[in-house]
Amino acid sequence: MISGLAHERLTSPKIGEMIEKLKSANGELSDAEKANVREMSRDFDRATKVPQELVEELSRQESLAHDVWTRAREQADYSMFAPELEKLVALTKKLADAYGYEGTPLNALIEGFEPGATVDSLTKLFDEVKAVTVPLTEKVIASPVKAKFDFQKNKFAAEKQKAFGETLIEKIGFDKQAGRLDTSIHPFCSGGLGDVRLTTRYNEHAPQQAIFGIIHEMGHGLYEQGVAPETYGTPLSEALSYGLHESQSRMWENYIGRSLPFWMHFYPSLKQQFDKELAGMSAEDWVLTVNHVERSLVRVEADELTYDLHIILRFEIERDLFAGLISVSDLPAVWNKKIEAYLGITPPNDGKEGVMQDVHWAGGSFGYFPSYSVGNIAAGQLWKKMNSDMPNMSKQIESGNFGEILSWLREHVHQLGRRYTRDELLKKATGKPLETEGYLTYLTEKFGSLYKL
Ligand code: ZN
Repeated sequence: MISGLAHERLTSPKIGEMIEKLKSANGELSDAEKANVREMSRDFDRATKVPQELVEELSRQESLAHDVWTRAREQADYSMFAPELEKLVALTKKLADAYGYEGTPLNALIEGFEPGATVDSLTKLFDEVKAVTVPLTEKVIASPVKAKFDFQKNKFAAEKQKAFGETLIEKIGFDKQAGRLDTSIHPFCSGGLGDVRLTTRYNEHAPQQAIFGIIHEMGHGLYEQGVAPETYGTPLSEALSYGLHESQSRMWENYIGRSLPFWMHFYPSLKQQFDKELAGMSAEDWVLTVNHVERSLVRVEADELTYDLHIILRFEIERDLFAGLISVSDLPAVWNKKIEAYLGITPPNDGKEGVMQDVHWAGGSFGYFPSYSVGNIAAGQLWKKMNSDMPNMSKQIESGNFGEILSWLREHVHQLGRRYTRDELLKKATGKPLETEGYLTYLTEKFGSLYKL
């Protein structure tokens, strides 16, 4: 009901009239105000383009498909799910028609998550990523360097993990007067300025899951806490895109959180919490363990290096499905062929380890997946520039000093909200629109040095 009310207000003709008035007074507006009008107008146009009946029909089909998906996934029976997915895809194509697009219907859907991105631009970026990560994964797996530590045999008490997580986010700069950390079944970050909620779950036999989960959600939270307070309630106080949001969480989780300098600083306090459980393990061992690379079937459990391959295969399937090159019934075969080609493994079934593992398609979220990899790529681009602006960055991390890093991100990303388009923002921050160079160099150097390639 609340969504309905919000939608009704957003699409009210009154809003349209106000936007038109503001557009005609463009000359009197500041640059920030112009950006607000541009973004408000974009939201208004998109929301008013979809007929109410289609919204309802889609909503109904999403619920039906989700319900069938839950059972089909459990029983690993794709034939059960296929007819529902078929209907959902047909309705989603109608949705894309309502939005309007150039090229393929998927472009209209991607626009909802990653404004400005297209199937073609993503294909180009992802081909570059694939060309590096597929062979790099092979080399890392063939390397004799292996993590020796197994967490399974010890019990890492949840309350101690939580205590450590609390210290971590506070030391990094998450404002606990304006947010908090709690426990939930699925980790998330929600809320905004003044009240940012981070959640995680604790596995007592895999402490790294909660630790990096917390750092990840904190990255999202820092973005939300960093918007300019005076813009609150307008598009300028909102994150620019799903991909850029993910660039922040992944930078903190992977670039900073899984690095040796970070653990040079924090490992002693982790050790203090888990003295017995981590007996015989050095900071270097810990870092190698939390950067373990393997051929895995399940996206949510994938490591940093292979993660994009899981995303790219999903994107390619969506791309070909919406372009009419493959049909819903082809999905399991195409899925298995791609994961075999990129990761060298074949799922034993179409359920939890195969084509039906993710909730996204069952919920009608087509065009969402690319944002994860766009986040990785954008993080790499920003990271490169941060390293050249702050040559002693790893020394800062090693000494537990995150103030300058956070200020850099605040200035170049957080406080801008939706002021610029993604590529404009990246150009201002790094001199170039989204490109893979920084990311691929980072991956090659990081895993090359960890695995002595
Ligand atoms: Zn995230």
